[in-house]
Formats: sequence, C-alpha cells, structure tokens
Amino acid sequence: MKIHEYQGKELLRKYGVTVPRGVFCASVDEAVKAAETLGGKVWVVKAQIHAGGRGKGGGVKVAKSLDEVREYAGRILGMQLVTHQTGPEGQKVRRLLVEEGADIRKEYYVAALTDRASQKVVMMASSEGGMEIEEVAQHSPEKILKAYIDPLAGLTDAQAAELATGIGIPDASLPQAVALLKGLYTCYMETDAALAEINPLILEGDGTVKALDAKFNFDDNALYRQPEIFAYRDLDEEDPNEIEASKFGLAYISLDGNIGCLVNGAGLAMATMDAIKLFGGEPANFLDVGGGASTEKVTEAFKIMLKNRELKGILVNIFGGIMKCDTIANGVMAAVRQTQLGVPLVVRMKGTNEELGKQLLRESGLPIIAADTMAEAATKIVAAVQ
Ligand code: ADP
Ligand code: MG
Repeated sequence: MKIHEYQGKELLRKYGVTVPRGVFCASVDEAVKAAETLGGKVWVVKAQIHAGGRGKGGGVKVAKSLDEVREYAGRILGMQLVTHQTGPEGQKVRRLLVEEGADIRKEYYVAALTDRASQKVVMMASSEGGMEIEEVAQHSPEKILKAYIDPLAGLTDAQAAELATGIGIPDASLPQAVALLKGLYTCYMETDAALAEINPLILEGDGTVKALDAKFNFDDNALYRQPEIFAYRDLDEEDPNEIEASKFGLAYISLDGNIGCLVNGAGLAMATMDAIKLFGGEPANFLDVGGGASTEKVTEAFKIMLKNRELKGILVNIFGGIMKCDTIANGVMAAVRQTQLGVPLVVRMKGTNEELGKQLLRESGLPIIAADTMAEAATKIVAAVQ
C-alpha cells in the first residue's frame, strides 16, 4: 500500500525527522489560507498523488506571493498529472500540500528498503538528490552508499555517521543527520514499510537537515497489525477493479494484454500467464480466485474481467484439490449465463471430480472450448482471440 507525501511527512515527524511546516488542502481557497497561516515569503504548492516525479510533470510549484499560490493551486488541483510513474493516462489531482519554501543548499537522497539478496534492511544514501535513483544507479553507481543493517543492533550511530559523511553532509550538521537516519530506520521498522524514501533530503542555509519529500510503500500482509497506516489508504489512488476484486477476496492485478485469466493459486496463475505469453498471447490480468471459490466469487471474477474493454477472451485454468472441478464448472456456467459472455472462453480443469466437471460443461450447451493441457489451453485461447 502506498500513501501520500503529506501522510509520509506526518509519520516522519513522529519519528523525529525534520520536515517543512505544511498544510494539507482540498481547495484553492484553503491553499491560500494555508499560505497565509504559514507566513513567510515563499511557499511550495504540491500535488498529492501516489506517484513520484511530480516536479517534472508540473505538480510542484514554488510560489513567491499569495496570488501565485492561488494561481498554482488552481492550475494543479484537478489536473491530470502525468509522471514517469503514473503511465500515459496520468492521475487526477484531488489534494494539495502547501508548505513553507525551504532554503536549499544541497539535495541528497536517502532510503530504507528490504534487500532480498542480503535478506536485510538496507539504508541507501547518495549525494545525487532530487534525481531518480534508477538513473544514478545506472550512470554512477559508485555514488550510492549502502549500509546493511543487523536486525538485532539496528542502524548504529557509526553506520549512520558513515553514510552521512559519505554523501557530504558537513560536520556541523552530522549529529542531526545521524538522528534523522536513525529515525527513518525506526519508522521503517515500526510501520512495516517496504520502502521509505526521502528524495530530496536537504541541507538548508543554516545547516538544518530536512526531509523535503516522503515516499512510503507498506507490506500489505502486515496491514492487519498497522491500523494507523491502513487508515491512510486512499481508494481514489487505486485501480477500481482491484478494489472491487479485494472485496470478494480475489487477488486481481490489471495488465496490458487482452486474454483474461481466472486461476486458483498464485503459482498456477503465474504459470498460466507464462503459457499464454509462450504461445504468443498477452494476459489482461492476474487473477487468483483462491481456495474456496464459490459461484458468486467466480461470477464476480468474470464481471471484473469483462469491465476491461481490451478483453478479447478468457482462459480458466483450475486445479481441483480441495476445490472440486464440478463446483468450478457450475460457477463458470452461472457466470457465463449471468454476464451473457460475448468473448471466447477456454476452460481447463484437472484434479478432483474432473470428469464430472467436464461433463457438466459439455452438456451445458454453452460455447465453452475445452482443453486438457496447459499448452492446449494457451494455444486455443491465443487462436481464439486472433
Ligand atoms: P517529486 O519527487 O514527486 O518530483 P518532490 O517533493 O521531490 O516531488 O519535489 C520536487 C522538487 O521540488 C524537489 O527536488 C525540490 O527541489 C523542490 N521542492 C519540493 N518541496 C520544496 C519545498 N518545501 N521548498 C523548496 N523546494 C521544494
Ligand atoms: Mg521527490
């Protein structure tokens, strides 16, 4: 799960990380009022969407008067903001953060994330702040410093100091930078984050070290024990089909192709997508109906897949273990009738009550294409959508 920058800064502040003073706003008038309340001479108007790269896309503007705050807030609110992380369709801006302008002397990058190779949390830091870290990694990997953190010791003072000096934070600001990095690490651990990124972290003219941006990703599987984080969820930022699917306990991810997949088990779902691609097709989604797929669940799964205008066919691939093939067959038949399915449908079933399931489909009189192996199923659906 992702959250907005203003929420990320609220979290960071709780862990002792210095952030600019700012006010969250939903209208132009609120934005102007926020700037008045904040005082000062320079403000920054920032679009709040779940994607980075807002600055380059025109979603972060520095205002030097209240009139400019009004102008930028009006321009940004409601805009369809396109960044390298939103895709070409962009994301509609519904909320703003108005904050005090910072006196930036230097921009750095710091982040905490889980490193699969070392199976540890790694703290990354770079002198190349404000840029996309992928670009720094590609062109000057030596400018990214890493500290691998022992889970028992946590981020030590020595590690934090080495990172801070390594990226060029001056000695006078070192104690504050060390405290900030340790706060970031504790925040990452205590909130079950999967990524906590500050880009840029800045050094101000007076030597203060501050987080100017905040980007968080949380482990969905830990949200049950993180009610405060879960409360930050913003459904406006999520794919409506994925939200609908989660209500029915379906694991659904939209993809770019035209062949819908309905599968039980994540491993089989991945293998099914691989098979489709191997035989020249492109999956329209990942969909795991889970263990106890009822008729209702299968019907909802069909409805969600059919909302996709690109969809040209559906492949159902079921392994009947605890779930019986005849139950799935009944579910598929009900779904085809209820949705008045107008695209080709290939069904492959294996396992418990396989013969019974196949017989039900054969005798249903519905235009369902049967397949016995993965290869046959993939070949048939790819041919059917061409
Ligand atoms: P994004 O990463 O989505 O583009 P950032 O929050 O990193 O958004 O903002 C982009 C840039 O805008 C920053 O690198 C920084 O130079 C500038 N900026 C952001 N917030 C402020 C601020 N409060 N004061 C001054 N400049 C800012
Ligand atoms: Mg940023």
